[in-house]
Order: sequence, then structure tokens, then C-alpha cells
Amino acid sequence: MADVILISDMRVHIVDLPTRAVHSHGSGDVSSIHSIVLELVTDSGITGWGEASPWPVFTGTIEANAAALHTYYRPHVVGANALETNKIIAHAEQLVVGCPEARAALESALLDIVGKSKDMSVSELVGGRHRHSIPLSFSVANPNFDEDLQSVDELYEDGVRIFKLKTGFADHTFDLMRLEALRKRYGTELDLRVDYNTGMQPFEAIRRLRDIERFDLTFIEQPVARQELSTMAAIASALDTPLMADESVFNARDAMAAVTLRAADIFSLKIMKSGGIRAALDVAAIANAAGIAVYGGCMFESGVAHAAGAHLCAVLPELSLGCEFYMANYYLREDILAEPFPVHKGFVHVPDGPGLGISVDEDKLARYRVELLQ
Ligand code: MG
Repeated sequence: MADVILISDMRVHIVDLPTRAVHSHGSGDVSSIHSIVLELVTDSGITGWGEASPWPVFTGTIEANAAALHTYYRPHVVGANALETNKIIAHAEQLVVGCPEARAALESALLDIVGKSKDMSVSELVGGRHRHSIPLSFSVANPNFDEDLQSVDELYEDGVRIFKLKTGFADHTFDLMRLEALRKRYGTELDLRVDYNTGMQPFEAIRRLRDIERFDLTFIEQPVARQELSTMAAIASALDTPLMADESVFNARDAMAAVTLRAADIFSLKIMKSGGIRAALDVAAIANAAGIAVYGGCMFESGVAHAAGAHLCAVLPELSLGCEFYMANYYLREDILAEPFPVHKGFVHVPDGPGLGISVDEDKLARYRVELLQ
């Protein structure tokens, strides 16, 4: 007889986690992380954790994702067998259009339960590890660049060597000044990248991007709006610097469209865009078949979602450009994990232990909770 682990309860914790500094992006400012922590309780005594981290200007809203989980998924999830993860996720996809963040949270909590019950990590459940650590990229996005330089100095001391400058939220000369300053201070010691978060107009993009190619950047990320695939393709063919698609590629269908137009050289994988690890692996498979590199991206997340993202990155042989799971350690004033998310000397270490390999500190969760749906 097949194993059964019945899901007996679902708690949707909406949290607001204060950050150390404001971050500016081509598509908006962020001063706290507003996120949803999903707790699935089972009759076996195992609890599974997941996180949905929407950003309204990028993926979706807290309100829509909370409703997807609490109103639409709950009647089908409570009473279901947690071991039938794919069946539950496929059903969730039919119940609500959009809200990939809610599905990412649901899949994460289910895999956490399955992993804990089988004494296997999430990365072992979804194919097995290729690596145990991933180089960390930190995003330089403070409108006060002097403060950012201080952060870069501190992170450099900590062993971080990859920095992604958020560009396109002020004027072009500000971007050039910051790139110049970073190269002057650190030379080629830093692996530098830039991310426009769609902050550029198509008509100006190629000329301005040619301007910044002299800074020897590893990649340029998403200069123009997500639907501007043909502009992305024109930029990719005009520049020597590799182009990364983030906002333009959420899921496997988007990946197919981008491959057809050769709209990017790299895809940023995010469980919040694809709707979970399995769906992100589909994007990675298409990228791999098309000779496109992949990168471990994330949204504004706590250590819960970082852990799920780290397990995704752990299984991909073709992941060659690192990951950006820095928020829990370097951006939040305090994370909600009992033990700090494992970052050492510029590397994210894939959490060990069954399931996600993390535990949530329930006191901290209660401290930062603004609403509980149960
Ligand atoms: Mg991005």
C-alpha cells in the first residue's frame, strides 16, 4: 500500500521584514520585504515550509497570492496526501491563473514534508546534487552610492567577489560614475554585472549599453520591458557583452519564445517566476538545449525561499554564473530562520538535512507577522 501523509492544516503567514537600507531598481524602490510564509501541518507531525515573495511591479501582489493559497488552494490541499506533490501542484495550476509565487510556496512546503519523511534533501528529491555550494552575487542598489561602497568593502572582506549593480533607476551618467568607481577601487578583482530591471527605453538602449561595455561586465540583465523580445534580440546581437533575460522569461513557454528569437544569452531562473523548482528545471532544460546559460535569481525573500532556490541551483550542472541569495544575510535586519542561512566566504552552501534543511524560528515569525490566514 502506498504511503499517505495527510495534510491536516494550512497556515498562511503574511510578514513584513524590515531591511537595512532602501534598494532602488529600474522598476521601483524596496524598503522592506513583504512576503508570505506558508506552513503545512500533517497528521504525521511533520511540518513543511514554503514562501511566496511577490513584487507587484515584477511578478504579482501579496493580496492575489494570499488569496490563491488561502481561498483557492486550501480546500484542495488540506486533506490531500503530501506525497502526491505533482498531482497537488498540477491541480493548483488549474485552480488559479497566474500567481506562480503561490505555487512555488506550495511546492516548497510539500517537498519539505516529503524530504523530511524520507530523510532526503529537496535537491536529492528533484534529481540529486551536482554541487554543494554556489558563488554569491550581491546587488548594489542603494541610491546613496557612498553607503553602497561601504557595503561592497564589507562584503569584499567577507569573501564576496560578484557584484550586480542595479542600473537605470537614475540617469545614465550616475550608472557610468558608479561602474567607473567600482573598477577604479577594485580593478578586475570583482566580477561585475548590471541589471536594468527594464529601466531603459528601447530607442536608447543599444547606444547606452555600448557605453558601458568598456567596464568588462559579465552580463547585462534585462535592459528593456519584458515584452520587448525583439529589442532584446537586437541588443543581444549588437553587443559583445552577454545579455540576460529576467523579466522576459518566467516559464518554459517564455523560454521557448526567447530561444526562437535568440533574445538572450542567459536566463535568470527564479522559482517565483516559474512556479517552483520543477518548473524552473523545465526552463533550464530549454536553455541548455539552446546553448543558453542559466543563473540562480531570486525575488525579495527570506531564508525560506532562499533555501528552495539553493536546492534548485544544487542540481543544475549547467548553472555557471552563481546565485543572488543574499537578502537573508545582508539585506534584512533579521531573518526568520532559527539558524542563519548558510553563506560563508562568498558562497551559498546548500542547506544539509532532510527537506529544505532549515527551520523557521516561530518567535521571529510571530514578531514580523502582520496577518495570519488560517
Ligand atoms: Mg533581475
